[in-house]
Amino acid sequence: MHAHDSHEVEVDEFIENITKMSGEDFSLCYQCGKCTAGCPMADVMDFPPTLVMRYMQMGLSEELKKATSRWDCVGCLVCGSRCPKFCNPAKVMESLRLDDIKSGRRQEEIEALPVNFLKKAPQQAIVSGFRKYVP
Ligand code: SF4
Ligand code: SF4
Repeated sequence: MHAHDSHEVEVDEFIENITKMSGEDFSLCYQCGKCTAGCPMADVMDFPPTLVMRYMQMGLSEELKKATSRWDCVGCLVCGSRCPKFCNPAKVMESLRLDDIKSGRRQEEIEALPVNFLKKAPQQAIVSGFRKYVP
């Protein structure tokens, strides 16, 4: 197998994995933009939900791995509630976050958090944050 072939396999695996985890049928999305129009975090996202859906359709795994919008997503579920095709971009964002954590691309260590922050932050916020950030 050529090096190029193994790269192709890796790309497919990422897309397949996110597709499986999210349970989404990306062919249903017709890029109407309603999800992004309602997303409270779209203004700060590099790739808002409509684009994430498009990149999944196109199999652009390297771009998706570099995107950071899943970490701006607050999981409010507005995107899915607005979708006329019953897609659920929130599930896709969650799957991308899980893949980041499992693959080691993003991990947070509790020891790395400043002690002053830990003293002041509400316990509930810390627990919720670690549910999101830690495998
Ligand atoms: S609202 Fe649904 S169909 Fe429209 S862009 Fe978003 S995911 Fe695609
Ligand atoms: S769940 Fe995430 S992507 Fe969907 S509308 Fe809320 S913040 Fe935006």
